[in-house]
Amino acid sequence: MSGSNARSNAIQAITSYKSEPAPLNFAGARPTEIYGCNVFSDKVMKERLPRVVYRSLRETIERGRHLDPSLADIVASAMKDWAIEKGATHFTHVFYPLTGLSAEKHDSFLSPDGSGGVITEFSGKMLSQGESDASSFPSGGLRSTFEARGYTAWDVTSPAYLMEYTSGIVLCIPTAFLSWTGVALDRKTPLLRSNQALNRQASRILRLFDKKTDLPIVSFAGLEQEFFLIDRNFVFGRPDLLIAGRTLFGAKPAKGQEFEDQYYGVMPRRVLSCLSETELELYKLGIPVRTRHNEVAPSQYEIAPVFEAGNLAIDHNQLMMTVLRNVSKRHGLTCLLHEKPFLGINGSGKHLNYSIGNAEVGSLFDPGDTPHENAMFLVFLVAAIRGLHKYGGLLRATAAAASNDHRLGANEAPPAIMSMFLGDQLADVLEQIRIGKVHGSRGKRLMNVGVDTLPPLPADPGDRNRTSPFAFTGNRFEFRALGSSMPASATQAVLNTIMADSLDFAATRLERLTEGDPGKRNAAVHTLIQEIMEEHSAVIFNGDGYSEVWHQEAERRGLPNYRTTPEALMAYTSPDAIDLYGRYNVLSRTELKARQEIYIEQYCKTIRTEANLVIRMARTIVYPAGLRYQRELAGVCLDMCAINKELNRPNREPDTALLDQVESLLAALRKAVDGLESVLENGEYANSVQEAHHYRVEVLPRMEEVRALADSLETLTPEDLWPLPSYQEMLFIK
Ligand code: ADP
Ligand code: MG
Repeated sequence: MSGSNARSNAIQAITSYKSEPAPLNFAGARPTEIYGCNVFSDKVMKERLPRVVYRSLRETIERGRHLDPSLADIVASAMKDWAIEKGATHFTHVFYPLTGLSAEKHDSFLSPDGSGGVITEFSGKMLSQGESDASSFPSGGLRSTFEARGYTAWDVTSPAYLMEYTSGIVLCIPTAFLSWTGVALDRKTPLLRSNQALNRQASRILRLFDKKTDLPIVSFAGLEQEFFLIDRNFVFGRPDLLIAGRTLFGAKPAKGQEFEDQYYGVMPRRVLSCLSETELELYKLGIPVRTRHNEVAPSQYEIAPVFEAGNLAIDHNQLMMTVLRNVSKRHGLTCLLHEKPFLGINGSGKHLNYSIGNAEVGSLFDPGDTPHENAMFLVFLVAAIRGLHKYGGLLRATAAAASNDHRLGANEAPPAIMSMFLGDQLADVLEQIRIGKVHGSRGKRLMNVGVDTLPPLPADPGDRNRTSPFAFTGNRFEFRALGSSMPASATQAVLNTIMADSLDFAATRLERLTEGDPGKRNAAVHTLIQEIMEEHSAVIFNGDGYSEVWHQEAERRGLPNYRTTPEALMAYTSPDAIDLYGRYNVLSRTELKARQEIYIEQYCKTIRTEANLVIRMARTIVYPAGLRYQRELAGVCLDMCAINKELNRPNREPDTALLDQVESLLAALRKAVDGLESVLENGEYANSVQEAHHYRVEVLPRMEEVRALADSLETLTPEDLWPLPSYQEMLFIK
């Protein structure tokens, strides 16, 4: 089939699309009843577990108490009965290897009974621990294949759930994934470790302020997820979208996002059906999705759930990405989670809204109403300032990936410089404290200086700033650098760890300054704030993060700007990182080294694959299309010569301008593809860091060169000769 046929067939299929899934009827199945129906939730546990077992499990989930292994058998049996009643046939330990995806291996509940029949079986051991040959997962040199054993361990704090497939239901148990020597091979383990460190240090601060709570302090995450939905038929006609998840070719359409008519616009009906069904599936899984809207770019959308405990929210986000991919297929759509599927229009991010606290104390980043709470809030606030200033590089590293490099710093996402937006009011209050002259907080409300030197703060202390990577938004911070396809676990773990470190520092300092006398507390807080602001206020920036002025200013302030992934990933093994992660037992030096190695490898593999795709597509799709056009043009010229001769018009030459243009574009294209191929094949590097550098400096620019030539060709070539679905079609035919 010629390419142009594939393309027009795709369009035809789309324009005659009939919805396959029956429309949802929420009146028949109320979300309030459906919500969480596939979760082995607190309610189910309460109903099905003996009281003592339930209580003990709750203690573990809520208070982080040690899990009593003798309970596992009873829980497993209840879980199995519940799952089988609901139609499950298999169970799986879901884990989160360093590939960024989730992994699972299904096991049947069935076991031979010895006399030709079967019984169902699911023991406590099967629930709490799994063992698998996991040698094909990246380990960054942590294991050699002969010691390939990996263990999965039940994470009690993230509830088990049922995944429904068209034919079959599987009980899924969230787990941590470790090597047999106890080394973390996944994304969850360090997050759980960092939660513990955070709780320990935050509790010290709460004690200093006589703030009582029975619950541990945890971190929360609210994750906004952006993505594109385009018709599946287009994807089949585009090897780049199919394999790389982004377009490696494609001329800019006449209309992009410049009208700003898409943001918050009315959703196309098919998209709305798809998202409604996605939400239904997410409700069943107990994922509290709340908002949905059109994003800035054409065919771009966002959904966001209500925030939850970090570990749970992040598991839920992984599930959400899976559900989005699956459900969109049923509606003839493909969900593109790539950070930059289309050049020239906005890419997709994932905003991580971060706070710490618990159900009793609320968010510890909430200024509160009384000066007493203010003081504690200010301690948490300056702890975050210190943490970001000291370890911004580590946070930046968690947003590093080949795909996200196309987005960060590209005037649609914050720059790679880690700074904090506080808003004028808070920045002003801190500045007053720093210089020792507290006279009032700006804004509507008057400040109450009655108690010591600490002003009550307005509940909404400032405007929003979209250009900052780390912005204070009233009772939480919003980290905006993460890419849409990236798991948020590493970011959450870094935030927890840098908070733990700064709270540790603050608690130690306050303990020393107060010498156990609560009367000295406010003066001590004042001193602490002064000291931290003196040293770390350089990280605060309330202006336009996209501007060139800020890049210069940031450099002057000594803030690092790691523009690309290879540079950013170096932070993983800096002495500071090794010391920090080691002190709070989040990741050992070996574990950090392994992670760095894996992420660098991923970077290289991504670019190598894309470069190979560029070469293949250029040679087999783009170039031949150009040749066909060239032949057509040449034919026209020959015809014109013949006519001129026939009509005896010796002074008339055929106009070959277009033919010449196409010819020279094709020649340049061929040369550029050969050039790309040779740098891809002939790179010399002693290690993966050098390899990554080679890809960034030599390979990527040549890929772009090939693309630019191909895109020029696209704008000249007749529609019916161009085989690839165009940007206009992909983005605007719905
Ligand atoms: P916006 O697009 O204006 O940033 P959204 O409503 O799309 O806001 O998303 C905000 C996210 O922040 C939601 O997931 C919300 O639940 C979450 N969030 C709200 N309060 C907190 C908090 N204290 N801690 C963490 N996340 C929070
Ligand atoms: Mg947001």
